[in-house]
Amino acid sequence: MKVIDLRSDTVTRPTPAMQAAMAAAEVGDDVWGDDPTVNRLQAMAAERTGKEAALFFPSGTQSNLAALMAHCERGDEYIVGQMAHTYRWEGGGAAVLGSIQPQPIENEADGSLPLAKIAAAIKPHGPGLGAHFARTRLLALENTWGGRVLPAAYVTEATNFARSKGLSTHLDGARAFNAAVASNVSIADICKPFDTVSICTSKGLGTPVGAVLVGTRELIDKAYRWRKMLGGGMRQSGYLAAASIYALDHHVSRLAEDHANAQLLAQGLRKISEIEVVGQATNMVFLKLPEAHAKPLETFLAQRGILMQGVYAARLVTHLDITHGDVNRFVMAVSDYFKGAAK
Ligand SMILES: *Cc1c(COP(=O)(O)O)cnc(C)c1O
Repeated sequence: MKVIDLRSDTVTRPTPAMQAAMAAAEVGDDVWGDDPTVNRLQAMAAERTGKEAALFFPSGTQSNLAALMAHCERGDEYIVGQMAHTYRWEGGGAAVLGSIQPQPIENEADGSLPLAKIAAAIKPHGPGLGAHFARTRLLALENTWGGRVLPAAYVTEATNFARSKGLSTHLDGARAFNAAVASNVSIADICKPFDTVSICTSKGLGTPVGAVLVGTRELIDKAYRWRKMLGGGMRQSGYLAAASIYALDHHVSRLAEDHANAQLLAQGLRKISEIEVVGQATNMVFLKLPEAHAKPLETFLAQRGILMQGVYAARLVTHLDITHGDVNRFVMAVSDYFKGAAK
């Protein structure tokens, strides 16, 4: 029986067609700049996102970190959401490896950081008073945010405001393609307000490995040096880049199916009275489960070949390996669980 894994969109396996593209890749030593497939991916990513340059990374974490290090020097700080991936979920890399001080701000429910709070967090600089503070250099946002698309008007306003204060801008766009597809705009539109954007291909786009950082030539050149220092200089990485090229060509518009499946999932679960669906956006559904049921439900489902993460955060994520039928099977199994539990 097929395993239905709704824990994350990182769990996808490369499709046979993607594997064929990988196996057929022309490769060279990318540290020497010799890998034609990596070069092709980078040119393609820069073009599609409307940026001057792009750089291929093994992970989104490394791509974000190299970007932060390209924007900020030792003793600088970046303004970031309290719950942002680059602050909260990347091991503190900016501080540990970049000597960059994070200045977290509480996110609003829609993922935005209020302009007044950004303004209040920007430190004076220059001689005298300014010597007391880390230098505020960068505003980092995230899109999608808990599956939600950051409001476009807010992004424009916040990045314009950052620029007016002399800050540069970075987007953690791990799922930027979900944002583009869900709001029916181009990926270039999503990326346009930012100096750099990090995009994962290993999430909804379904590659086994990979992220691209796109941005200005100057910042990408800096990130290139940091990538090497961080251990991200890969050799015949064209085999991996080929998966990302395949994904950009074949797995972007189909994200709409993941979004439709997440909607279907939310609809189905809303009919189960013990479960509260607290949110659904793009490819994610968030639930409130009665605490006593979280672990037993997880176990019940696992015995039926269904993986979900109910204990820490009840978040279900649809992706390339989840079909309409899988969604129905999932809802049915959850329903069966609560019927049994009621007895
Ligand atoms: C997954 C993710 C990343 C990068 O994660 P990697 O697993 O290192 O590729 C960054 N930001 C967000 C919001 C993510 O979801």
